Amino acid sequence: MIKKLIGRVLSGEIFKSRAKRDTGGSRAGAKVAKTAKIIAYKDHGVARGQISACALSVTDTLQGKGYAAFVVGGAVRDLLLKRVPKDFDVATNATPEEVRGLFRRSRIIGRRFQIVHVMCGRETVEVSTFRAGHDTQVKEDDAEDAGSARGADQNDRSRTDEHGRLLRDNVFGNQQQDATRRDLTINALFYDPATQEVHDYHGGVKDLHERRLRMIGDPVQRYREDPVRMLRAVRFAAALDFEIDAPTRKPINELAELLQNVPPARLFDEMLKLLLSGHAVETVKRLRKEGLHHGLLPLLDVILEQPLGERFVMLALKNTDLRIRAGKGVSPAFLFATLLWHEVLSTWKPIEAGGVPPIPALFKAMDQVLQLQAEKLTIPRRYGGDMKEIWAMQPRFEQRSGRRPHRLLELPRFRAGYDFLLLRCESGELASELGEWWTKFQEADGGARDALLMPESAPKKRRRRRKPRAQGDATSAPAAPDA
Ligand code: ATP
Ligand code: MG
Repeated sequence: MIKKLIGRVLSGEIFKSRAKRDTGGSRAGAKVAKTAKIIAYKDHGVARGQISACALSVTDTLQGKGYAAFVVGGAVRDLLLKRVPKDFDVATNATPEEVRGLFRRSRIIGRRFQIVHVMCGRETVEVSTFRAGHDTQVKEDDAEDAGSARGADQNDRSRTDEHGRLLRDNVFGNQQQDATRRDLTINALFYDPATQEVHDYHGGVKDLHERRLRMIGDPVQRYREDPVRMLRAVRFAAALDFEIDAPTRKPINELAELLQNVPPARLFDEMLKLLLSGHAVETVKRLRKEGLHHGLLPLLDVILEQPLGERFVMLALKNTDLRIRAGKGVSPAFLFATLLWHEVLSTWKPIEAGGVPPIPALFKAMDQVLQLQAEKLTIPRRYGGDMKEIWAMQPRFEQRSGRRPHRLLELPRFRAGYDFLLLRCESGELASELGEWWTKFQEADGGARDALLMPESAPKKRRRRRKPRAQGDATSAPAAPDA
């Protein structure tokens, strides 16, 4: 009997039945991952009180209605690493419709991957229903067992393109399957605020301790399903200063080109996360190292393929990282304005050389660059106006006499334009003296400010065009005006 019991424990059966209770008992799916290791509070130290009020209210409400509900993903990872989570995600066995029905301020979003946003005050918690992996075969008889989440349209819920990329990921499953469909082991940890236990199906806690990034399952297949996972692996490696495990790292270089099949809007979102992670400089360096930049990420191409602009862009990214780490806001428009500035410069000068006056030439260049990049980078239109304002201010910083500097100072976006100018000076594009002058000019007041102004340059003398003289009458006096 005892032998039998030990055997059951070793084979994981006992854990299995526990996990089954936790997940609402779904049996769907042929390929089920290992059972969870349950880690008690005393061994990990993450207390219920560290979970945000909104996430707690979501898990408590769902659990109160008999559903399984856990805090998952980045928040658990960050709390275990003693970092402050950016936001909280919840996973549950309730369907999006069921979740929607429980929270007044909630809405279902997404198509490829349907989730529910639950709002409490200013906080939003993302609630996702347990997903089964894409290769999970859902049998007919299992469909009933899994409850209302499954229907006849399984194919429509999980489709791939010709490269194996998942076009939809809406096949619901149980907690084990949900752990297995996640990307990295450290992102597949579930925290139950009621028991303060962590459920770990893939050795994520060990990987966290050993500072290692490991893709769950076969990395090649996982990257094919979703090439963005390659970017995520590199982003987390840079942000957490973790090593990417060799089998997870190796295929990245070979499969890099799969990123070309990712819809530009999704790539743009991921790039924005990367640039605003507070570790943009390190991430960009690592992306280069992994061969993930060239020709693959339009935004990065722009950054890395302008030798002149590289210093400027790297400085801008360094600045952004510092601001984010200091908890200050960063404007994406400012960031994009820096990324594209050298494109604007190199477009502007030839237009000017073609005889167009400097300012109209700049405006022409800005429009051309934005138009060209709109397609490539899919920079949302709403940023275009702010970017143009920052760029258009730049020549005005070079005018330091009369009322013009005062007028520039009064512009609502002056600060962004000035920060941009300082970056240009720091990168060596402009003399540092110009930036210093503007710093002093802002700080000075009244007479001291006026004293800094440069003398007006003497107005150019306008040459009067002489009337052509009548032929053969070189000495004739001007004709008398008509009466
Ligand atoms: P961050 O701190 O940037 O929010 P995160 O890990 O929470 O990091 P999210 O994009 O919020 O990232 O995703 C939440 C969780 O969803 C992840 O931790 C991971 O478990 C899972 N996930 C996200 N994107 C993918 C993906 N492309 N493939 C598989 N699982 C993913
Ligand atoms: Mg997150």
